[in-house]
Amino acid sequence: MSFERRQTRQLMVGNVPVGGGAPVTVQSMTTTKTHDVDATLAQVYALAGAGADIVRITCNTVEAAQGLAEMMPRTPVPIVADIHYQYKLALAAIEAGVSALRLNPGNIRKEEHIKAVAKEALNAGIPIRIGVNAGSLDKDLLAKYGGPVPEALVESAMIEAKYLDDVDFHDIKISVKHSNVPLMIESYRLLADTTEYPLHLGVTEAGPPPSGLIKSVAGISTLLSEGIGDTIRFSLTADPVEEAKAGKQLLEFLGLRERSGLDLIACPSCGRAEVDVISVAQEANDRLEELELPIQVAVMGCVVNGPGEAREADLGLAAGKGRGHLFIKGEVVRVVDEADMVDALVDEALLLSEQGIEARLAARDVSAADLAEETRIELLTSQGDANDAAGRRAAVKAKAE
Ligand code: SF4
Repeated sequence: MSFERRQTRQLMVGNVPVGGGAPVTVQSMTTTKTHDVDATLAQVYALAGAGADIVRITCNTVEAAQGLAEMMPRTPVPIVADIHYQYKLALAAIEAGVSALRLNPGNIRKEEHIKAVAKEALNAGIPIRIGVNAGSLDKDLLAKYGGPVPEALVESAMIEAKYLDDVDFHDIKISVKHSNVPLMIESYRLLADTTEYPLHLGVTEAGPPPSGLIKSVAGISTLLSEGIGDTIRFSLTADPVEEAKAGKQLLEFLGLRERSGLDLIACPSCGRAEVDVISVAQEANDRLEELELPIQVAVMGCVVNGPGEAREADLGLAAGKGRGHLFIKGEVVRVVDEADMVDALVDEALLLSEQGIEARLAARDVSAADLAEETRIELLTSQGDANDAAGRRAAVKAKAE
């Protein structure tokens, strides 16, 4: 299943298409001083490695613009220069060779300045994001609406878009970020009804994880599920690598991007668990994540329900009676000592990605399934069937007869 996407115009940020049916992209922003070229480039590489398709870098001084000029030939992903207050730094960033600009209409307010930047961007063939922010909204609009309401954010964006349209500049994307999730959602819905320009989604100043992650996921997912949004950014008070990773994972979990890494699922654990599921899942996650295998792995706390409930997973581990039961697509393929089970899971993950599911099922230890079934029945007998599925089915059938 995939969401029907809203039709938007398409533009190019360097070699990355945004809008017009292009895959939703992930953005993040560096936190280094831009004039420190090596540190900033190292962070750009880290962000690209974590899943960022486009990286934004502040261009807040002349030295920053000079740093951008040095970085451009060496960056692995397109760079957007973030501009506030000083329109001349936008001109300097264009000269530096950036792939796009972000302008904040709340603090670059003079029409002639905005048009001067747009003309240069047009000559350079690069797009502009109109980045409206509830916290830095144009003060006239704040006064008009009495606060940063969705109508005010959208009006700010559309005034800026009109200035750009006036000079024949149409490579525009727009964001209307708010730190309040329902207002953020409303602002983007209103914007989507108002314009065909592609939209950059984000909850601004979302804060540190986990609340920052939850706010971002709530706002961005709601809109993506309505087909709204062409590029996204998590604004977390955290290492920006976390932002890029979260953005990439969100798109993967929503089915909007092919999985490139691990998807670890784990049961929440309960009184039936035979191991400390939280620490086993954490260890498995840490070790498997490093391998960057595009597989789904399940860690389940017991053999009574584990393999069945996680039968869709490519590979899984269920614990029981001091042993680890490895299963592939719900079929037990090996039983190992509890102390070795995470090692065995990692080994099997590597073999599975090299050889494929069919080959690994064919290579299974044939006695493992019997041993696993014995253990399952033993535990079921000693612990009882909490769900009492057979009893419930019989009772339903008896009523119908
Ligand atoms: S898999 Fe087993 S331990 Fe985990 S939640 Fe389900 S019943 Fe409990």
